[in-house]
Amino acid sequence: TAFDEIGFPDYMMASIRAQGYPSPTTIQCQSWPMALSGRDVVAIAQTGSGKTVSFALPAMLHIKAQPALAPGDGPIALVLAPTRELACQIQVECTKFGTNSRIRNTAIYGGAPKGPQIRDLQRGVEMVIATPGRLMDMLESNRTNLRRVTYLVLDEADRMLDMGFEPQIRKIVGQIRPDRQTLMFSATWPKEVQRLASDFLTDMIQVNV
Ligand code: AMP
Repeated sequence: TAFDEIGFPDYMMASIRAQGYPSPTTIQCQSWPMALSGRDVVAIAQTGSGKTVSFALPAMLHIKAQPALAPGDGPIALVLAPTRELACQIQVECTKFGTNSRIRNTAIYGGAPKGPQIRDLQRGVEMVIATPGRLMDMLESNRTNLRRVTYLVLDEADRMLDMGFEPQIRKIVGQIRPDRQTLMFSATWPKEVQRLASDFLTDMIQVNV
């Protein structure tokens, strides 16, 4: 498969070309058609497989297909990640592709001052990349809300569970409308991750890389 067989719009092809990627990775070839058709996807994939772009580009097309944010609206796409480092890495990748499409994003993570994160949330961002603890904090203090989230990604789900985030994840997902599209990425596929997948995903397609 080549990038131009996927059916990305021109502005997105331009930012893909700007990255100089020679061809899509295996996980991108497998997950893009599923994600773009609106299906729930669970992917067993490692860091370095190109997984971030595999959920980020469909997220952006999903956002573009929604009505613009109104004042007070929270994000349309939410990505949950286990650590600050990963959240920031995902944000960097999303920004490479989001600028052309004027999609705003922010990373919300613990161990850093809340002020700038609150400011971003209140300005309005279509895409939030967050660690579960700090996001719960922002939700409980009404700094954002998940009423407009229709595209949810759980990245490195196994690691989030290892770190004890299951209660926060369940609370967060419980605030998101059930007819959302959900994508889950995990390096391993133990029972606990399978349980999370069957609780959060509907009629899911599994991709193994
Ligand atoms: P990830 O697995 O998402 O952590 O991505 C690992 C690295 O691969 C990142 O630096 C991406 O920018 C890069 N990458 C993503 N897709 C491709 C591709 N199709 N070809 C080459 N590199 C890519």
